Amino acid sequence: MLNQNSEYKTGKVWLAGAGPGDEGLLTLKTAELMETADVIVYDALISPEILSRIPPTAETIYVGKHSGSHPVPQDEINRILVREAKKGKRVLRLKGGDPFVFGRGGEELELLLREGIPFEEVPGITSSVAVPAYAGIPVTHRDYTSSFHVITGHARKDGTLSIDFDSLVKLQGTLVFLMSVSSMEKILKGLMDAGMDPDMPAAVLERGTTAKQRRVTATVSTLKEASDRAGISTPALIVVGKVCSLAEELHWAEDRILGGRRFLLTRPRQNISSLAGRLRDLGAQVIEMPAIRTEPISPNPALSDALERFSNRKGEKWLVFTSPIGVSVFFEQLVEMKMDLRSLFCGAGSTKVAAIGSATAKALSKHGIFPDLVPSVYSAQELGRALAEKAEEGSHVLIVRAEMGSEGLIPPLNHAGISAEDIPLYRTVYEVEPMLKDRIREMLENGEIDAVTFTSGSTVRGFTQALGEREFTVVHSVCIGEQTAREAEKFGMQVEIAREASMDAMVEKIMELFGTDQESGYADRHH
Ligand code: SAH
Repeated sequence: MLNQNSEYKTGKVWLAGAGPGDEGLLTLKTAELMETADVIVYDALISPEILSRIPPTAETIYVGKHSGSHPVPQDEINRILVREAKKGKRVLRLKGGDPFVFGRGGEELELLLREGIPFEEVPGITSSVAVPAYAGIPVTHRDYTSSFHVITGHARKDGTLSIDFDSLVKLQGTLVFLMSVSSMEKILKGLMDAGMDPDMPAAVLERGTTAKQRRVTATVSTLKEASDRAGISTPALIVVGKVCSLAEELHWAEDRILGGRRFLLTRPRQNISSLAGRLRDLGAQVIEMPAIRTEPISPNPALSDALERFSNRKGEKWLVFTSPIGVSVFFEQLVEMKMDLRSLFCGAGSTKVAAIGSATAKALSKHGIFPDLVPSVYSAQELGRALAEKAEEGSHVLIVRAEMGSEGLIPPLNHAGISAEDIPLYRTVYEVEPMLKDRIREMLENGEIDAVTFTSGSTVRGFTQALGEREFTVVHSVCIGEQTAREAEKFGMQVEIAREASMDAMVEKIMELFGTDQESGYADRHH
């Protein structure tokens, strides 16, 4: 376990690498620190899916470039780290790649040392190795090279480079140039002037390890032109060496079934996201937008009164659940109220249970309850209709669900002369970190998000509320059912609907819309 801040009078700073972009390349240690930090100081290279892991309890300070303006100067970053640590906070300084590889990590630690602030350094996966790897370029290979070298292409103030090209060419290793897009021409010319074969393979790799990664392969003499033609911009790195020719054969990232695709998942934060895991497994980049947090209503006297009355009631009575979260909050609240489940099922009358769909039924089954009614179509109206049909006349229905649940459920019941009581268990809170919100908006505008998934009307409302005033017509949505789709249409989104209300059907729909035939991709290269 990580230390708690109470141990440190002055707080502590963790200087941690977040990897090159793909969330899966975050180390366990950094992921754990993100959960426990009080303050997270981060810059522009941190990808949106990594940002979306920041819990709402952490304070965030962005020190990267804002569109058009300059990044926060290093002195200012240093001051922020010292200031926050001196407040006794656990400060996580999150950097792209590895903090010590052209990350100015050393400078930040020297300062902390001078100020007497305890620190740790958490290495990250550096782009200089991982970005080539995701492009199918191994930085070393026994047949081609026995060393690799990482070099900054950052120019000095007067525009010149401090690179010893003669020595580099003599080394005959793989050369990886970071921060080199704007000085590409000078670098390539420098290498050729120092005697490098103009036909030496070379590549420029843009936004590596993300869904939008691009690769341009050429030779030292042709790379600049090829890169300009493709419109390559930062972040990108240049690789020079024979290993670059292997990319033709060994490329893999974009060939995965959902490779190159990016999806935004709106899901309640507490739900363990099986959908995200499965989409990632198929090669997609997944941003989980933690817009929706459920907050149990606690204490909940309305619930304890209603359950008290329910258990004493004679005749047929129904307990109705409309979401897996509702189920888990309900059982938590029984524990909190020290209410024995037997009082609901073994008291007067006969208790039956209804669930809105298969996921809710599954959540109930984990508590040993197999519902008497699960309508085949997932919607509040359908549940109301099915209940009205199945329940005996004069039976009583107790609905335990979210505050402001959907309106369609109760009218069919009242119509059939069945009394229904609607008790809120939890409320939904909408929130998104401002920086993440801006990034998501920008990606939607630029068509960089292939689809947004919605699993309930409230996730649609949460998403639109969290992003605020804007057009939603650019949004392609994949919805779990008709009702959710109607809600998405209200905001002008384009809708696709899963065959049935399940995560399997959501994945199936996404594959149908965006999947590529992986078999053929591999067949091309198998001689
Ligand atoms: N500490 C970082 C490097 C910081 S310097 C690391 O270890 O990866 C910033 C440079 O890294 C960029 O100019 C670019 O050359 C490279 N870079 C970082 N992330 C990248 C990515 N996802 N794709 C391509 N290049 C990347």
